[in-house]
Amino acid sequence: MADPAVHQLTGVGIGRGAAVGPVARMAPPLPEPTAEPSRRQAGEELAVATTALAGVAADLRARAARAGREARDVLEAQAMMAEDPALADAIQGGIASGRTAARAVYEAFSGYREALAAAGEYLAARVADLDDVRQRAVAACLGVPVPGVPDPGHPYVLVAHDLAPADTATLDLDRVRAIVTAEGGPTSHTAVLARTMGIPAVVACAGADRLDDGTTVLVDAARGVVVIEPTEVERAQVAAAKATAAAAVVGPGRTADGHAVALLANIGRPEEATAAVAAGAEGVGLFRTEFGFLDAHNAPDEASQVASYRKVFESFPGQRVVVRVLDAGADKPLAFLNQAAEPNPALGVRGLRSLRATPAVLHTQLAAIAAAAAQTAAQVWVMAPMVAEPEEAEWFVARAAEHGLDRAGVMVEVPSAALLANETLAACAFASIGTNDLAQYTLAADRQVGGLSALQDPWHPALLRLIRLVGTAGARTGKPVGVCGEAAADPLLACVLVGLGVSSLSMAAPALADVRAALAEHSLAECQRLAELAVATSSAAAARQAVLAS
Ligand code: PEP
Ligand code: MG
Repeated sequence: MADPAVHQLTGVGIGRGAAVGPVARMAPPLPEPTAEPSRRQAGEELAVATTALAGVAADLRARAARAGREARDVLEAQAMMAEDPALADAIQGGIASGRTAARAVYEAFSGYREALAAAGEYLAARVADLDDVRQRAVAACLGVPVPGVPDPGHPYVLVAHDLAPADTATLDLDRVRAIVTAEGGPTSHTAVLARTMGIPAVVACAGADRLDDGTTVLVDAARGVVVIEPTEVERAQVAAAKATAAAAVVGPGRTADGHAVALLANIGRPEEATAAVAAGAEGVGLFRTEFGFLDAHNAPDEASQVASYRKVFESFPGQRVVVRVLDAGADKPLAFLNQAAEPNPALGVRGLRSLRATPAVLHTQLAAIAAAAAQTAAQVWVMAPMVAEPEEAEWFVARAAEHGLDRAGVMVEVPSAALLANETLAACAFASIGTNDLAQYTLAADRQVGGLSALQDPWHPALLRLIRLVGTAGARTGKPVGVCGEAAADPLLACVLVGLGVSSLSMAAPALADVRAALAEHSLAECQRLAELAVATSSAAAARQAVLAS
């Protein structure tokens, strides 16, 4: 940090934990190396390129030696790419015709890349690995840090301007203690992922771009602050808080007077089911199936989907597992569903709209869900994302019924679906309120833009009034209404949501303990009183203040 007087940065905290560690920054993507002729001797450029490639290969081999089996094979294959003699020849040719080492490496990899991409599906999947080796080799030629998620070889706090889904997918959970980003709102992909992994994060953090590698920081998600060079006392407070969290209450969700509120888990990949069970989840309230296919070039086949869904269902015998069909688009594009470039993807063909445009993909997915459900004892519910009109709910329910899936519901994440809550619920079996998107669309504030995070605050009374409409419609029709957006993971707001008529709360597993404890401290009547106070205000800050002060 340039200014030693700055001791603390503020942003939006994700989760309730805190962690201390040294900063490791995510280096930005490299620009294309200049095509200007080299001013050095060809021999010098060749030495730079040869050393760079040898260094990259050695580094990849060293990582392979430390990695698990699957990752080891990929890393070994990448090391072999860096050592390929045909590539070395192409680089030598480029340097002989006046290119810099970086440019010659860049061009040689491009030729190799095109050949791979043209060679068919399996090899095309290797293109991403090749691009990674190219980035590493070009960075080594230029003497700059390798772009992407850093690997300092010890636990660290990851600091980035922003994180893309592909970056977060490769995070080593044993190493990353906390995440700090300059961009990203409370409902951005980074925030969702940090919550899922139970990693404390501060997003939309002004000044994060000026944190230096190696600086020790304390990331306090509950307060939304990043303390630079924390004192011994501050570090000790983090350790004490961890010990208290470990001793939290367990059991099913209920208010102080025994009103049951199902506490469910949000998961993105089958492997996360284990942590959800360990945290005492009473089922899964949101299985984000698209998370398994963010890198897929082709639509997943039925058999592989059956295998993946079975893993989740088997973890919850007799319990509810709500499977959301693919929610592609905007921040989560899927190559096989979203092809057209759209001027405004969040308002474009996403969610159920893209599945209606590609019905074969939905058909295969519903068939896979039904087959996996038939092989296990879970109560499987299916749910459609981004439903704007009751007619869409009807259409989805009919598609689900064709596969024998009779518990079909919709997400309420577009204001029209909430405003028509009675009609929406009349058309389906249940509703689950996605407060992340509902906030985005109610307040016209892109959830990916950190600078707008104040407008994505789920405490906003405009959002709470929409939730009340759905809660009331649920009570009138006798159909369950849950919340599965990030709002459900805020312990005090969770009580307000229950007061608004919500009967289940679904969240990342690490948030369950705090929400369970908060519910146990409030009766249903108290939750209803808090809800009244919050909806009567005119800003998120006022709603939070009214509830905190009561
Ligand atoms: C939501 O929008 O609140 C939600 C739960 O869905 P996602 O975050 O995956 O868009
Ligand atoms: Mg959503």
